[in-house]
Amino acid sequence: MRIEPRVLHRIAAKCDEITMPIRPPPRHFSCPACHWSKTVAPVSDVLVPGHDHFAACPKCGHAPLDSKAAVAMPAVFGQIANTLEKWFKR
Ligand SMILES: [Zn+2]
Repeated sequence: MRIEPRVLHRIAAKCDEITMPIRPPPRHFSCPACHWSKTVAPVSDVLVPGHDHFAACPKCGHAPLDSKAAVAMPAVFGQIANTLEKWFKR
């Protein structure tokens, strides 16, 4: 998919209106062994192991943990970008 810079600009402006600061989505970690769980919301795209990223359970050491995005932002953003691109091409 190729998006012209001017289209990207308009998409970015549109996203500001919809109010979506571009930041990593919160992630939910859970341990299948002891049911420890934690949802973290990174303040930047730099993940800090043991703070906003967990490779293993801090409680029982089980790895790997189940982890999933608490919000499916990238997919949603892709759909919005596609839709807006169609609108702007009219
Ligand atoms: Zn555990």
